[in-house]
Amino acid sequence: MFTANTLYMHTRYSLVLATRNSGKVKEMRSLLNQLPLTLHAVSDFPDAPLVEEDAPTLKGNAHKKAEALFIHTGFAALADDTGLEVEALDGQPGVHSARFASPDATDGDNRRHLLAQLDGHGNRAARFRTVIAFVEQEGTHYFEGVCEGHILDAERGDGGFGYDALFQPVGYDCTFAELSREEKNAISHRGRAVRAFVAFLQRRYAR
Ligand code: IMP
Repeated sequence: MFTANTLYMHTRYSLVLATRNSGKVKEMRSLLNQLPLTLHAVSDFPDAPLVEEDAPTLKGNAHKKAEALFIHTGFAALADDTGLEVEALDGQPGVHSARFASPDATDGDNRRHLLAQLDGHGNRAARFRTVIAFVEQEGTHYFEGVCEGHILDAERGDGGFGYDALFQPVGYDCTFAELSREEKNAISHRGRAVRAFVAFLQRRYAR
């Protein structure tokens, strides 16, 4: 995939990840470790600005976070934003997924609120969507990943986070919270978006 030459040329390329969630940093590192990058996390930059995620779209929020970090650090920056889109709720909570139950909701509050909103609904179809924004000197690139599934009537599984215990991906009879991190990465919205980003860098460096 990389010749010795391209590896040598690009070894010093630095990338900073915007997420403050240590689980996501680990997930991203394991997906990006095949590339000759020096990866930094936003936690390496204690003065990095906190960005309010108030854009009306996932793309807008991802761009806002990556751009702020690029300006602050001078390194190419990668940020993601994820939403759960539930068909019976006209695509909600979507970009509001983190604050679905209330402005300071916990993951548990959000899951309980989702179950209450879906009470009595026959259509449980839903999808997770992740948008990644990659901001570098030359401009911004976007990558998207989607995972289709449906929302169960009750929580199952102790793993994962967010809405994982309620989300059963298509083709599986368990929830995201019952899968290992590797199994989830292989099919998840974020895994797909990150792999699209990795493929983009591989194409660029293979030139
Ligand atoms: P964020 O954009 O990653 O901060 O996520 C927005 C909301 O979606 C938060 O409530 C997360 O808990 C939830 N979320 C994001 N990714 C996942 C996932 O992979 N599984 C379950 N919930 C998620």
